Amino acid sequence: MTAYGLLIDYEYCTNCGSCEVTCKEEHDYPVGKWGIRVLGDGPWAIDEDNWNWNWYPLPTDLCDLCAERTAKGREPACVHHCLANIISYGPVEELAKQLAEKPKQLLIVPQFMPRVAKGPFVPQERDDGHRAAHIEVKGTGKAAFGAHRHDSRVGEIDETDLDL
Ligand code: SF4
Ligand code: SF4
Repeated sequence: MTAYGLLIDYEYCTNCGSCEVTCKEEHDYPVGKWGIRVLGDGPWAIDEDNWNWNWYPLPTDLCDLCAERTAKGREPACVHHCLANIISYGPVEELAKQLAEKPKQLLIVPQFMPRVAKGPFVPQERDDGHRAAHIEVKGTGKAAFGAHRHDSRVGEIDETDLDL
């Protein structure tokens, strides 16, 4: 059976977070659970002229390689929505050839752990009102209201809860 994976050219990852958000939206993952995370290292100086500063998009155990989408011939959500167009999906054999052509890439074959193996998905509750659409956001204290998607699990922000 052909193994499929993701090839990520992290040299050009900008840490925009689009892959993280679109994966959560695609799979309806609640706050605090992710199919992919972007982890960083740096900046720290290698020498006078060079710095190490990289972002690494890494699929988690909740990445199923977008099985529903790919079964219909569509590309995974993170591939489609990556703003830098640096994520490729395909057979590992083909991706490995591309991997050999350029450094600063990651070839990943996630091992999907089904939701049922991880217990019920309980959205994290916060009491500061800084929560919206599956992602946590930090408020500036200047917003007068919160706009939210229709997801019933995401509560409307009550202005009286905000520290304005
Ligand atoms: S392939 Fe699908 S499930 Fe995996 S990280 Fe990308 S969007 Fe998430
Ligand atoms: S969407 Fe692409 S550029 Fe943005 S953080 Fe994810 S991998 Fe990096």
